[in-house]
Amino acid sequence: MKKDILEKGAIIQRDKETYAIAPHIPGGITNPAQLRKIADVADKYQAQSLKITSAQRIAIIGFDEGHLDAIWEDLGEKPGAAIGLCVRSVKICPGTTYCKRGQQDSVKVGLEMDDRYHGLELPWKFKMGVSGCINDCAEGCIKDVALIGTPKGWNLMVGGNGGAQPRLSHKLVEHVPTDEQALALVDHLVNWFKKQDRRCRLGKFIEEMGIDAFREEALRDFGG
Ligand code: SF4
Repeated sequence: MKKDILEKGAIIQRDKETYAIAPHIPGGITNPAQLRKIADVADKYQAQSLKITSAQRIAIIGFDEGHLDAIWEDLGEKPGAAIGLCVRSVKICPGTTYCKRGQQDSVKVGLEMDDRYHGLELPWKFKMGVSGCINDCAEGCIKDVALIGTPKGWNLMVGGNGGAQPRLSHKLVEHVPTDEQALALVDHLVNWFKKQDRRCRLGKFIEEMGIDAFREEALRDFGG
């Protein structure tokens, strides 16, 4: 029976015959040339559909397995980490780059996080979000780690997830004043999670420990 092909980012479809892939589009920020290329590949290999995903990617859906290598070669792009135990995605809102309500530069910080962590192997699947203000259009409320912009910096949110046991994130640190400090905190948390030998979402740790004990434990060695 056909299965997902993890190393090629290919997901078996409901028909158990055809596959879908989703090229990595950091922050969902694309351009006409990339869109044309994706559309041309979908046409050439007779994909059934293109779908805009919740992880800000464009999935090419429903093509034959035999075309998989040629599709990646034509695209000249890397797979998005849509499956596997790793950092799956960093969802980014338009922030101060484009949005009139933006209070922090979510595009700059989010793309930096994408560059550092996208696809990084961790004990369990892990999602991130960066929103430029408390409207939280990148849905940091349901991400394992998220930064949400405020007039005074960033709120660091932890432990949110969707899925069968949804959890809303908790505010771990309020008003982190600079991008660098916010990124250092994210880095510390990712490394803390990496060292855990339990396989579960970050939110499960927080559920069991309580947010205050988690803060104490996870940030104990944080040097800033
Ligand atoms: S979260 Fe705030 S800055 Fe980002 S798109 Fe929404 S309203 Fe704009």
